[in-house]
Amino acid sequence: MRKRVLIVGGVAGGASCAARLRRLDEEAEIVVFDRGPYVSFANCGLPYYVGNVIPEESRLLVASAELFQRNFRIEVRTENEVVAIDRTAKRIRVKELATGRLYEEPYDALVLAPGARPLRPDLPGVDLPGVHVLRTIPDSRRIRKWIEAEKPEQAVIVGGGFIGLEMAENLVRRGLRVTVLERLPQLLPALDPEMAEPVVRHLEANGVRVELGCTVTAFEAAPGGLRIRTASGGSFTAGLVILAVGVKPEVGLAEAAGLEIGRLGGIRVDESMRTSDPHIWAVGDAVEVRDLVTGEWCLAPLAGPANRQGRIAADSISGRPARFRGVQGTMICACLGLVAAATGATEKRLARAGIEHFQAVYLHPGHHAGYYPGARPIHMKLLFSTPDGRILGAQAVGEEGVDKRIDVISLALGMGGTVFDLAEAELSYAPQFGAAKDPVNLAGMVAANVLSGDLPLADWRELPATKALVVDVREPEEFAQDHLEGAVNIPLSRLRQRHTELPREREIWVYCALGQRSYYATRFLLLNGYRVKNLPGGLITGRSLVA
Ligand SMILES: Cc1cc2nc3c(=O)[nH]c(=O)nc-3n(C[C@H](O)[C@H](O)[C@H](O)COP(=O)(O)OP(=O)(O)OC[C@H]3O[C@@H](n4cnc5c(N)ncnc54)[C@H](O)[C@@H]3O)c2cc1C
Repeated sequence: MRKRVLIVGGVAGGASCAARLRRLDEEAEIVVFDRGPYVSFANCGLPYYVGNVIPEESRLLVASAELFQRNFRIEVRTENEVVAIDRTAKRIRVKELATGRLYEEPYDALVLAPGARPLRPDLPGVDLPGVHVLRTIPDSRRIRKWIEAEKPEQAVIVGGGFIGLEMAENLVRRGLRVTVLERLPQLLPALDPEMAEPVVRHLEANGVRVELGCTVTAFEAAPGGLRIRTASGGSFTAGLVILAVGVKPEVGLAEAAGLEIGRLGGIRVDESMRTSDPHIWAVGDAVEVRDLVTGEWCLAPLAGPANRQGRIAADSISGRPARFRGVQGTMICACLGLVAAATGATEKRLARAGIEHFQAVYLHPGHHAGYYPGARPIHMKLLFSTPDGRILGAQAVGEEGVDKRIDVISLALGMGGTVFDLAEAELSYAPQFGAAKDPVNLAGMVAANVLSGDLPLADWRELPATKALVVDVREPEEFAQDHLEGAVNIPLSRLRQRHTELPREREIWVYCALGQRSYYATRFLLLNGYRVKNLPGGLITGRSLVA
């Protein structure tokens, strides 16, 4: 008998599920419902459409209803909202938005891929004209029209996550002066605070004002646009406000149908993306999934997981063994020439999950060989478990080559790899692309040195209370410019001659600018019988950590 599969939501998760199903089953009747006017559109391209990098709206349409019908015999009903699920009768109720007509459709299998809606905090004035969110093509069209009609000179972006920063870049591109207001004390919550620090500096250097720890409390109409009031009593004026304060899973349908909802507010699914009802699957931003590193439930509103989950649901519906192994939260965001990316757990997430046996290393290698012109630094942080060296997470910030490093580490992490695997990885190399010791290798090597005891680490955060002698191994000119309070200067280049000036009994903490010279100094001093530790990542990391 022909199976009837109905899919609610026709974008990342829903569309990939529908297409995969057809590839697995020529007979099944597949109908996709979306309340919006489009299916399979590129949400991730929306900020760039606002910024006019993508000038034509049509380019955002990855596939159309006609294409689905023609190529895959999948029926797509746009502007049809699914309003209820009758699980006993295995029927859904649908509202045709153009006419208001209600009708019902039976299913053998139902897939929920309704996504997540942008949060609109319940604040006075949040519905004023000029306050926008960005999720759909019509949203982006509205923002473009607003910019063209109202010609705002200033924009305020509420929320410093990746959508907020992508919007900041694109509004700068449109000639607006941009202020980002973020409630947390850091931008990009997918990073640890010290790794987000260079992003703040970069935005400010490029004319974007960033206010951290700034909670918006109200919006008011004001001459020249809107006044945005904050909890500290301050206010900002702007002709355009973008709310980018996060998303909330769309679980209304699932909840009303009595499906299990998790503690974080997403639909609960098993490893084959099946909900608490054996005939209903759910995928994408609407579901809770397992964090691959911590094992905890989490929300991961990202396009990659949504696509893969759609595919897994299709396999499961077709009776194939299928298992979603969990998410790593691999993300990347570019803003005004700086790129930040991460995979796996952050240090703060590990702490929240109660995971104690881990270590972090920092390094700042060039994105390709230093002798080849144009090498740009990548600031990297690698987290790994102790003592086995399993990779737990990585973060990188830089202008070039960030994507490649995080993607390589992401793959290793997903496969249960260790820092020793990173040290050994054989990566492509010519001077314009990388280094014979690629940043990924270096990260693994530094971590392996820590695990073997070759590189004992001190903690920057314990610096104020330490009884250790702090030694700066940079050159005297660098020391003269700035140094840690109380530090003595013995440059690496003179250490072999001058090490006898150092105490044998007292612990010594060494640092330099980036962590490389201090590593050499640590090795030399250890081999000569001193009690020594290295302050990881050099001053550049130290300043971000204990700013
Ligand atoms: C501006 C922006 C930029 C982004 N950039 C990136 C990026 O660079 N990288 C990345 O990984 N992720 C990015 N994302 C996130 C990514 O787009 C989402 O994770 C992904 O689209 C989720 O897919 P989904 O299928 O779960 O939901 P969606 O893509 O949100 O699709 C859900 C669809 O279901 C429809 N729907 C909901 N309820 C009903 C109903 N009851 N009846 C009928 N239809 C319904 C909705 O109208 C919607 O069209 C971005 C998101 C946005 C908004």
